[in-house]
Amino acid sequence: MAIRVLPIHLVNKIAAGEVIERPASVVKELLENAVDAGATRIDVTIEDGGRRLISVADDGGGMSAEDLSLAFVPHATSKISAEDDLYAINTMGFRGEALASVASISHAHIRTRRRDDESGMEISSAGETIGETRPCAAPPGTCVTVRDLFFNTPARRKFMRTTATELGHVSDQLARIALPNPPIAFTLTHNGKTIQNLPRAESTRARATDLFGAEVCEGLLTVTSGDDRIRVTGLISPPDRLRASGRWQYCFLNGRFIRDRLLNHALKEAYRGLADASRWPVAFLFIEMDPSEVDVNVHPTKIEVRFRDSQAVHGHVLAAMRTALNKAQRPASAQLDNARNDDDNLPMDQRRQSIRQAMADFFKSQPPPQAKLDLTPRTYESPSRQQDRDFRRPVPPAPTPAAHMQRPPAAAADEPTPPAEMMQLNNMYIVAADEDGLLIVDQHALHERLIYNDLKTRLAEGGLEGQRMLLPATISVTPADADLLGRHSQMLARLGIEVTQFGPDSVAVQQFPTLLANKGAPPEEFMRELLDRLGEDESTDPERLLEDVLEMTACKAAVKAGDPLSETEMRSLLSRLGEAEKGISCPHGRPTSIKLSMRDLQRQFKR
Ligand code: ADP
Ligand code: MG
Repeated sequence: MAIRVLPIHLVNKIAAGEVIERPASVVKELLENAVDAGATRIDVTIEDGGRRLISVADDGGGMSAEDLSLAFVPHATSKISAEDDLYAINTMGFRGEALASVASISHAHIRTRRRDDESGMEISSAGETIGETRPCAAPPGTCVTVRDLFFNTPARRKFMRTTATELGHVSDQLARIALPNPPIAFTLTHNGKTIQNLPRAESTRARATDLFGAEVCEGLLTVTSGDDRIRVTGLISPPDRLRASGRWQYCFLNGRFIRDRLLNHALKEAYRGLADASRWPVAFLFIEMDPSEVDVNVHPTKIEVRFRDSQAVHGHVLAAMRTALNKAQRPASAQLDNARNDDDNLPMDQRRQSIRQAMADFFKSQPPPQAKLDLTPRTYESPSRQQDRDFRRPVPPAPTPAAHMQRPPAAAADEPTPPAEMMQLNNMYIVAADEDGLLIVDQHALHERLIYNDLKTRLAEGGLEGQRMLLPATISVTPADADLLGRHSQMLARLGIEVTQFGPDSVAVQQFPTLLANKGAPPEEFMRELLDRLGEDESTDPERLLEDVLEMTACKAAVKAGDPLSETEMRSLLSRLGEAEKGISCPHGRPTSIKLSMRDLQRQFKR
């Protein structure tokens, strides 16, 4: 095969393949150009998720006729001219390939006017052909219009997903540009409807609130720290307000949205010991550092960067977040100090966490927990009791009437009988002992699994029961939230949830799952979390999503770690342990119980 230099239109198409993945990629490039042009107002208009039309209009500096004639030419850029510039980039763009790439796979048009010019100029392009520049009427600034994206690249066209999904990505790209630029006003219009209207804002907090709603941004802590080498500022969740989803995490390096494994790690690490490790903070973090300390030219869309000293950046971010969290923790832990027992010096959450950790470490050295509770049926006549055991709250061994009624002796033959001795440890674990050994049950995990199984059964039988709300709970929603609720209305109905529009930015929960209503679970909180999950990954298939929601429902309805249980409750939970652990996978894949047989104990004590 002969080596051939590829024709330029093919080179462009290949470049476009790297940079332009979907309509949102075009929006990103056009927004960046508008920001680079010094715009104070940027209007994004799209149709059909961006398939049919994307237009970005700005009031920035505009282009000269000469520049305009080069705009669609690959590697034409006004932003760098020498190699040295590459190492000190302070504009969003610099590769000069975005417009050329976009033009090669769409019908593109630019209209531009510099403030002092007599008239505007325009240029069109369609695939391989670039038209002539022509004078036209135009306001100061630039408007780039892209129609029929991917018209000549069928593979990419097929790759596009639903309108709602593409719109979601466009929305996210807008957020990535709008967050670090509060002084610029933005609008996003889809099929004639205003999706975002972001007025010029005074602060990141104000911009974030306009973007994501007051509920997401309420109570965020301010991060601000750094030296002359690196500065970290932004907003992060307090530990008690983490979310079920990580979709409100935005990190920026010198004003550019980036994704970085180490930074994600720092975000999580900052909350270690302060909050539930399975939840995510809202975080808008802005890192500023000397551009020569970082290479932004390692990824075609510049979303990944290479730090010269990534450990130092990680350390700075972690320290900045910790400082903000500590500052906020102090008053809260002072309150806890008054309420706590004498024998523990840690705030509640930390104490729980450390106990959990200590137990986990201890049991890690054990053989894997048996899936089944295997306490052989026995009567209560001969409980092996040791009065001097170090149980602070031993429960008398006699079965309560309630437990007795649940378990008529006749039917008890093949079911495990509750053990002789039980206690609740730290309001978290049920510890049961009999002469076979020791059983430790995670009360929340077990209850959660039982509810989860019930929910699955009921769902299979037609759906969950819902309860009409006397006073419908209202929740504020963004247009994206409203869209999610609309799209998942069928699933909501199966769950026993009914929401109706209530004012321009909120919905009312008219009906709520009976199970949760009885539990007194606040619908606002549940719905927020539900929306977090629904919005998290649009590619998840509906059944999988439903399972996620069931897990969440079960988690909310179950007794919590920290809830004191009555003896009856403990017995009733223990009596269903076998059923819970029978073959059905645990929602979170965690064990619900750990058994230490006498043999295990003896081995521990080297007998
Ligand atoms: P890059 O941004 O990497 O320079 P682009 O292909 O995105 O490359 O843009 C090419 C050039 O077109 C830019 O360098 C800039 O001079 C000009 N340009 C693009 N969009 C605008 C705009 N909205 N306002 C003014 N000039 C623009
Ligand atoms: Mg650009």
